[in-house]
Amino acid sequence: MSYDNNNIFAKILRGEIPCKKIYEDNYVLSFHDINPQKKIHALVIPKGKYVDLDDFSQKASPEEMVGLLKGINLVAKKLSISVDTGKGYRALTNISEHGGQEVPHLHFHLFGGEKIGKMVE
Ligand code: 5GP
Repeated sequence: MSYDNNNIFAKILRGEIPCKKIYEDNYVLSFHDINPQKKIHALVIPKGKYVDLDDFSQKASPEEMVGLLKGINLVAKKLSISVDTGKGYRALTNISEHGGQEVPHLHFHLFGGEKIGKMVE
């Protein structure tokens, strides 16, 4: 699947649609999910144009990969859900049709602030 420049997260990255920003650096943008499924539900997205984790794994530079992983950790710390600052969380990314992905720009969901429950429901 080729990258759709008009997906909702591309518009958020361009500032065309507002978001409740949590964190931003050269590699990632993080904001609260518009429809939170848990007490804390954040999204972390790379700034580069990647459809999903498979696309990212094949095309992103080492710097982008490190930037995304570090970004997830920084956001978790900022939200006080990391192992350092809180009680842990779940990081999850949906990939394509069977994964249930709705927005075709790679994003990690961070769920926390309460027990998250079963891995798959
Ligand atoms: P997916 O199903 O693709 O893994 O998750 C997409 C997520 O994006 C959903 O949890 C949905 O609530 C969230 N979302 C969709 N549109 C918007 C939006 O305009 N703003 C924000 N902050 N989140 C959105």
